[in-house]
Order: sequence, then C-alpha cells, then structure tokens
Amino acid sequence: MRVHLTATAAAAVRRGHPWVYRDGIADGGGHGSKRGEGKRGERVHRGGAAASGDVVELSAEGAPFLGRGLWDADSAIAVRVFQRTQAPPLDERAIAERLERAFALRDGWFAGRDTTAYRLCNGEGDRVPSLVIDRYERAAVIRLDGDMLAPWLDRLLPHLARALGAHGVRSIGLRARASAAAGEDADGKKLAHLHGPPLPDRLFVRETGVAMEVDLARGQKTGAFLDQRDNRARVRALAAGRRRVLNLFSYAGGFSVAAALGGAGRVTSVDSASAAHASAQRTFRENGVDPAAHEFVTADAFDFLEKARARGDRYDLVVCDPPSFAPSERAKPRALGAYRRLHTAVARVLDRGGILCAASCSSHITAEDFLATLDDATLERDDLRIRAIHGQPEDHPTLPAWWEGRYLKFVVLE
Ligand code: SAH
Repeated sequence: MRVHLTATAAAAVRRGHPWVYRDGIADGGGHGSKRGEGKRGERVHRGGAAASGDVVELSAEGAPFLGRGLWDADSAIAVRVFQRTQAPPLDERAIAERLERAFALRDGWFAGRDTTAYRLCNGEGDRVPSLVIDRYERAAVIRLDGDMLAPWLDRLLPHLARALGAHGVRSIGLRARASAAAGEDADGKKLAHLHGPPLPDRLFVRETGVAMEVDLARGQKTGAFLDQRDNRARVRALAAGRRRVLNLFSYAGGFSVAAALGGAGRVTSVDSASAAHASAQRTFRENGVDPAAHEFVTADAFDFLEKARARGDRYDLVVCDPPSFAPSERAKPRALGAYRRLHTAVARVLDRGGILCAASCSSHITAEDFLATLDDATLERDDLRIRAIHGQPEDHPTLPAWWEGRYLKFVVLE
C-alpha cells in the first residue's frame, strides 16, 4: 500500500523524522478515520483504507520511494517510519535485527555499573518506532505507543524471547497504555504476562549501586522513571554535607534515597500519593537507611510549599520533578505558568547557598522555555547561576530530527 505525502511531511521523513501526521498525507480529501475502504495496492487516503499494523510505502511529488512504515488507523500519527531504504523488507526479522543491536549496545553501556534496570529499546530513538522495552532484572516490560505494532506482537514474540533470553531476560510482560483504562484489571493491575515465568508485581532493582523498589503491576510508566537514573546519581553527589533536602513530587523516593545515601542530614519527600511513600520507605530500608530519620509528607506540592514558607522552613537542596504539565502544544502557555508558580514557591524555601534541581519531562517545553521559568524575576532573587543542564541518559536515545524525543530537562542552579 502506498501513502503519498505533502512536501513538508516528505522533507521531515527525509531528515529522519519517524512520524507522519494524518495531515501530512497529500491526496487526502476528508478527515476522520473510516476504515476498510479501498483495496490493497491502492493509494491510502487520509484515514481510509489501511488497518493498523499494515506496512505502507511512502512517496511524494518527485519521490516514488521515500521509505516504509506502519500504519495506525486511529492515532494522530498515521505512519511511523521504519526504513528509508528499499532493502531489506519490513518484516519481523528486520525489526528483530534492530532490537538485537539495541540490546547489545546496553550490555556495553551498563557493564560494571551495578545497574539492573534500564531501557532496552527506546522506540523511535532505537529505530523501532512505538516499541518501548524496559528491563527490570530478569523481566522485560513492553509498552506500545499507538496501535501499529499490536498486530505484530504474536509474530515478534519468538524473536523477542530469543533475543532477550540471550541477555538474561526470562519473562516478558506487556504494559497497558496510559490511555487504555480498559487494559487495567479490577485490582488496578496494568501488566499482562506474555512469556516465561510470571513477572513479580513488585521487585527491587539496582541502579548505580542503589536498591530501588519498582511496582511493575501498578507503578507509573512501566514501573519506574528510569530516565532520571543519572540525575539521581548527580543528586547523590550534590547531597554531601546538605542539612535539609526537599524532594517534591518524590514518587517512589528515587531522588530522596539518593540524597540520604549521599549524606544529607534530613530528607523531606512530598507527594500527593501515599502509596508512593510506602514504597519509598521500603527502598530506604533496603539501602540500610532508617526512614524514621527522614520525613514523608502526603500533600499537594503547592500547598506544602506555601505552608513551609509560612513556617519559615528552609532547605539547602531542593529537587523538583513534577509530572508533565504540558501534554500537548496547546497546553503550553498554561504549563509555563504552572512551572513559574512552582519555581517562585520553591525559591522562597531555598536557602542562600542552596542548590535547586528543577526538572521538566514535557517535550513541548524546550530547554530555553523551561529556563525562562527559572529566571531572576520568577525566582525573585539574583544569587543563582546555572551550574549544569542535563537531559536523559543513553538508554533513552533520540534522533537528530526527532526533537519530540528529547523531553527531559534537569537544570541545576546554585
Ligand atoms: N521524581 C520522581 C518522578 C515524579 S512522577 C522520580 O524520579 O521517580 C510525578 C509524581 O508527582 C507522582 O508520584 C505523583 O503522585 C506526584 N504528583 C502529581 N501531582 C502532584 C501534586 N500536585 N503535588 C504533589 N505530588 C504530585
């Protein structure tokens, strides 16, 4: 099947951008996503003809072959581009080869790092669009973005099991997509078993020498925020000699335990979910840190900051890693406002001489956008400098043309 692109969409594909939006398809006609019209071999019109998972060939004015991708009948992204060369054909073997390359790279990256949880495949960034695979010890958890690879799973599974097995992975599970509430069991489990021994609901993994509890069945993302691994190690180093550390939006306490192990006197973790604190406390204990020497507050971070300021509480290291405020381009102005309000409030409890680590995981907020929410006017002070700006670690690779993949900002101000 053939999909004819607009000049703009074709240029993006040439640059290596892995997505074709529905409005990047040229001879469209109407919008909508009616399925089942047209026959194989015909040109695919906007939203018509193909079914999710079908291989489509991309063409444009003056370019009979631009590449090959998989069709998604429902998502805003109509095609994810896998190849820009004629050979090899796009089949499960070609995908398996890319996965093997991705897995082998991780062996090199993580050798000797006392780390048993990492992203084995970062979808588009590893040139296997829409397929995310995270490793937790001997278990791999798959997450699919969009629908196009779902019809491929059965065929891919034997290849996956073999390739993952060669790297010591025994079990494979599938995470229900965030939007797919129907994928949740009555008991809130979001993990389906695909292969090998049953996956544990909960387990401890190692991350840069630190034990970390991960909730595979019910946790966020595929269980943990693996993208903050290196930043957690950085916080551990920054925490030496700090008297009072504040970790806002602390989730399972990754930054908190890092700070405690780094030598912080007292770490205050703030999250609106109490279950997250229970997990954080188990992680503290597993690392030989007494949670009773630290503080876990179930509260809205904004409320907490207001009260802390009123009490006159001050911190000499603050980590602030909120959930994405901008899920879409349209939400951007409001998100920037929310970051500003948050950072103003954070700066009011940050001691002179303190360190502020501010993170954003919204791809719609660029690094410059984000830095503007940390300027002097917002922070109401003139004593801080940017010590470093970090992003995501190597197991979350991106592509030069795929700016959407570079979502993580981690700014250290001192
Ligand atoms: N820093 C964490 C990831 C943060 S995820 C890590 O490195 O693992 C975002 C967390 O923010 C979730 O645990 C969620 O429960 C919490 N959260 C969301 N809105 C909140 C709010 N208004 N106040 C406090 N916590 C909130």
